[in-house]
This record gives sequence, C-alpha cells and structure tokens, in this order.
Amino acid sequence: MKKMIDWLAANKNKAFLTVCLVIHVIYIVVFFQIQIRLLAYLNIFSASFYFYYLFIKKDTSEESMVSTYYEILLFSALSELAIGPSFGFFLYMVGMSATIFYLIPSYKHKRFIYQIIGIVSALLTESLIMIGHFQVLDIQSTAEKYRPVFFLTNLGITATIVLAATFFYSKETESVWETLRYNMNHDTLTGLYTRRYLEKHIELIPQNQRKQYVISMIDIDYFKKVNDTYGHEAGDAVLVNVSSCMQETVGTRNLAVRWGGEEFILYFPDATPDIIYPMIEKLRLEIENMVTEVAGKEIHVTITGGVATGLADSNYEKVIRCADEKLYLGKQRGRNRVIV
Ligand code: GH3
Ligand code: MG
Ligand code: MG
Repeated sequence: MKKMIDWLAANKNKAFLTVCLVIHVIYIVVFFQIQIRLLAYLNIFSASFYFYYLFIKKDTSEESMVSTYYEILLFSALSELAIGPSFGFFLYMVGMSATIFYLIPSYKHKRFIYQIIGIVSALLTESLIMIGHFQVLDIQSTAEKYRPVFFLTNLGITATIVLAATFFYSKETESVWETLRYNMNHDTLTGLYTRRYLEKHIELIPQNQRKQYVISMIDIDYFKKVNDTYGHEAGDAVLVNVSSCMQETVGTRNLAVRWGGEEFILYFPDATPDIIYPMIEKLRLEIENMVTEVAGKEIHVTITGGVATGLADSNYEKVIRCADEKLYLGKQRGRNRVIV
C-alpha cells in the first residue's frame, strides 16, 4: 500500500492522465450502449486526447496538465450543454478547479487564475442552461432513467479526485516541512546538530528536570593549514570524518553539535566530568590516529578540548564560555590535549 502511494505521489500526472483515459473509455461504451451517440463521440475525442498524451507524445509535464485542464472544462461544459445539468457533468469543472492547484505547483500565483477559469466556466455553462434553457439533446426515456446513476457516478469520481489531490498535496507539504525542520536542526556538511538546535534544546528543558551536565568545546588544531595545503574540499572531508567520530563518542543520549567552522560542542545532559573526561580523551586519541585520505594523500589532524560542568541552575552560556576558556588554555599549552 505504502509503495503504491509513493509511486502515485511520484507519478501523479501519469496516474491522473490514466484515470481520465479509463473514465472516457468506459463512457464511450456506456453512451453507445444507451444510444446517446453525440456524447459517445465526445468521449472518443477526449479518450484520444489522453491516449495521445500518454502513449504518443509521452508528455506528463505541468504544461500537459494545463492542456488536460482545458480538455476537462470543455468536455464537462459540452456534456452539460448536451444533456442538461442533472447528469452531474458540471461537477468536473468545479472539482478540477480545486485539483489544478495541486497539478501545476510551479505556476505559483498563476494557479489561482486557472482556478478562476474553472469556476467561471462552470458558472457560465450553468447560466446558459438556466437562462437560455439550453440543451441540445432531447433525452429519451431510456437514458432518462440513468440520470441518478450518472449524477452519483460523476459526483463520486470528482470527490475521489479532489480527495486524492488533497491527500497527496498535504503529504508533499508534510515532507517539505520535515526536510525544512531537519535542515534547521542539522548542519548540512556534517549532519551534526546546529548551534540553534542546542540552544533551543537546553532552553526547553524544564527547570525541575535539569541535572548536572557537562559541556565540552572542541576545536581542530591548525585547520587553516589543512585547507591551505590540501584544499577546501579536503578540509571538508576531514570535518566529516572528525564529526562522525564525535557522533560515535556521544551516542544517542547526548548531543554532538557543530558550533562554528571547525569548532564543536559535545553536550552531556546528565553526567559528571570524571565520566566524560576519559571519553573526550579517548576521542582525542582516536582523532590523532585517524587518517583522512583525499586524492591519494593522507591527512592527519588533532583536536584540543575544554571540559566544563554546569549545575542544574547554571546559565548554560556561562558554562560554554568556561569550556571555551579551557580550550584556549589547551591551545596555549601546545594543542592536542583536553583540559578539565
Ligand atoms: P587553531 O589550532 O588555533 O585552531 O588554528 P586553526 O587554523 O584551526 O584556526 P583558525 O581559526 O585560524 O582557522 C580555522 C579555519 O577553518 C579557517 C576556515 O577557513 C576553516 N573553516 C571553517 N569552516 C570550514 C568549512 O566548512 N570547511 C572547510 N574546509 N574549512 C572551514
Ligand atoms: Mg582550529
Ligand atoms: Mg577555531
């Protein structure tokens, strides 16, 4: 089921054209059966249109959706003028004016113009019938008894199409929001959490649930040299490698954050420095022994870290500043070390 929904979402135009083709083919048979030839011919024209777009032109672009929209408005209006309103063919004009919004996303504001065209078409057609008593065919009693069946079928098809379009539209919107939320909280290069996320995360912890926590600030040593020697892309590859090492160290209960360019924060929400220090020291050693290979060249880097402890009621910005001061101390003392 999920697979089918995903396929339909990815091939919405093709699916829509296919549904239209099937409906028209069924109507060709039905109208010949009940001897309303004019409408059978109209449906042959429409079916040919969809056959052409699907199998000859093989065009399922947004432009083809606009042509399809006009085809549906024309078919709907002509059918309506031919046999009168109570067969429910006008419903396609109304339904499509909602659905077109979903089918031509890149038309942006212009989509509203298409919607208005649909609504005006429906209003004009109905006005023509009501004011001018316009109706081409004199429906014979045989066809007459199918009126409710036609009306309900057309209503059912229109409602299903509008429902499907709404469903897929909200599914699309939801996935855009998900990507947006992810990108807001994660750094695009390393996949680590962003500074913004950490700040929000800490601020949102209720006062009574705060415990003693540990913050470690880490900076890659002489990173500018890596960029200067091997190029910016090689620098990026090092950042990715160092980040995944950090992610492994913190696991899922703590946060690894890209604080700035080559500066990171590891946040341990419920911990003491005597437990965390050995972890950071191990990370430092791992990175010291880590090799990043770029274009046949082996790149080695080291890190310097500062570790600070925050109490339940500490201001986290102060704790970060304290970790930064320790980091600075580590740099002064020769780098490649962790200061608690
Ligand atoms: P130190 O040991 O004192 O930290 O020296 P450093 O060279 O690491 O420090 P500095 O602050 O002088 O240089 C940091 C460099 O990090 C400068 C900047 O070009 C680089 N950098 C920042 N963000 C990125 C990034 O996303 N990709 C790459 N490749 N380089 C980055
Ligand atoms: Mg640095
Ligand atoms: Mg730095």
